[in-house]
Amino acid sequence: MTAQREQLEADVLIVGAGPAGLACALHLANLIKKHDESATGGGHPLSAENIYVLEKGREVGAHQLSGAIMNPKALAELVPDFEKTAPLDTPVTDDAALFFTKGSSFRFPVTPPPFKNKGNYVISLNRLVKWLGGLVEKSGVNLFTQFGGAQLIYEREGIAGVITEDKGLDKNGKPKDNYTPGYELRAKVTVLAEGPRGSLTKQLVQKKKLDNINPQIYSIGVKELWDVQPGRIQPGYVAHTLGWPVPTNMYGGGWIYGLNNNRVSIGLVIGLEYSDPQFDPHEAFQIWKTHPFLKNILEGGKLVRYGAKTIPAGGWYSMPRPYVDGGLIIGDSASFLDSQRLKGIHMAIKSGMLAAETIFEALKTGDTSAAKLSVFQKKVEDSYIRKELWQVRNFHQSFQYGLLGGLFHTGLQFVTGGRGLVDPMRVRPGHEHYHKDGHPPRERFKGDGKLTFDRLTDVYHSGTRHEEDQPCHLIVHDLNICANRCTVEYGNPCQYFCPAAVYEPVQEKDGFKLKINAANCVHCKTCDIADPYQIIDWVVPEGGGGPNYEGM
Ligand code: SF4
Repeated sequence: MTAQREQLEADVLIVGAGPAGLACALHLANLIKKHDESATGGGHPLSAENIYVLEKGREVGAHQLSGAIMNPKALAELVPDFEKTAPLDTPVTDDAALFFTKGSSFRFPVTPPPFKNKGNYVISLNRLVKWLGGLVEKSGVNLFTQFGGAQLIYEREGIAGVITEDKGLDKNGKPKDNYTPGYELRAKVTVLAEGPRGSLTKQLVQKKKLDNINPQIYSIGVKELWDVQPGRIQPGYVAHTLGWPVPTNMYGGGWIYGLNNNRVSIGLVIGLEYSDPQFDPHEAFQIWKTHPFLKNILEGGKLVRYGAKTIPAGGWYSMPRPYVDGGLIIGDSASFLDSQRLKGIHMAIKSGMLAAETIFEALKTGDTSAAKLSVFQKKVEDSYIRKELWQVRNFHQSFQYGLLGGLFHTGLQFVTGGRGLVDPMRVRPGHEHYHKDGHPPRERFKGDGKLTFDRLTDVYHSGTRHEEDQPCHLIVHDLNICANRCTVEYGNPCQYFCPAAVYEPVQEKDGFKLKINAANCVHCKTCDIADPYQIIDWVVPEGGGGPNYEGM
């Protein structure tokens, strides 16, 4: 079907209203305002109204999920008086690093530097982003929620905008009464701020061969928010756990963050390069909660919210080239996250600001070529983003040698400024690590309904909602591979790694069928990353669909 699309033109189009995208929009609007007010101002055609931001969630912040501890330094640059109005839950008051065995826990006598969080805040990323969105709207920028970028418009050696998703198609792709074709949004500069494994970023990186020396590698974080009995945890208490129940040949660890009003954020991070295709990150998280240390905090409490999201873990050597003609990549989409400290919010904000400064100069000169926009990479290299990422440039790769190997290598890297024994340390994409052993289906975790939960109960607590009658946004390109090769070789790992019970292999009279419960999808992107044959494409569903991470 060839749709008649409405065309709109902007100076700058930002895809994704997370911390990176919003920081880019706000800083650019501030630069324009400052320029207009200065003695030399005026005479240029820039206006905040010509900055568009697209957000696929039903409202700003709905898809924002993080631990989340924020280093406030970038926010202080963006909004100098942020402490007056930003929704900062609590400053960090105590740091602990714990090692778990099945029944005990040991606190490291000295908290290792990567786990120190003095001066940082425990926040709800959802609330912080909503607040930032308010500032962006106030600055005159046009922020459109419930619109996703479905396709890139390619021009020159880069991009010239996006086509948003068609609305009102039924599950067979036929127009319904409310059918509206997606808009063709053209811009002088298009900024991809889609978060980890952005669907447009993936296309652009592949098409223009922007990959760095290492491919991007990822972790998955599975999180719950609980209201607990008074006195179980202090606001600002921060603990990171290593050890049980994560097998020693894998990368993983947990977090426990105390928030105000007896609320606690807990989560488990697992590196997506494990070898057992039946490993289930959601199940590991549930089992982790049965440890006596967690049980003491959670017993008598109530689950409030659930979510899951991938985290770019490759760091500096996985950073794609972040500029093309007419386009920039920022935030998690560009690998700006310190996977050792699990900190990305300040880098997302800083990268958004550096992109804004680059774009401002480019628009003033009317030159938005890759050569002009490459200044962004230079700015990143001169900033603390590079400094912080450079120190941990080989960190995550070290854990391909298991926990002990990882600790050995990171110890050496710590004393050599990140270099360690091998620099650069290379990696393979996570999905290449599965063992082909033949894997009969195994029983699934059910949970006790009080402390531990099955995936459907958790999905219910993620607030996820999608229009049911729409084309499936999880495209499996060859179902024969699922039915034949994958069943035999790997036992269909999609049914284990998806933390929202979306993939369900069923044996019917006429053979194997992969049932896809797309309405459950919490947009974590794990399937796009961890599928062993790379035949799953996550594409944007109708805008407004997905989780609602209220308070997360
Ligand atoms: Fe995550 Fe894919 Fe499952 Fe959606 S279907 S929740 S993106 S693994």
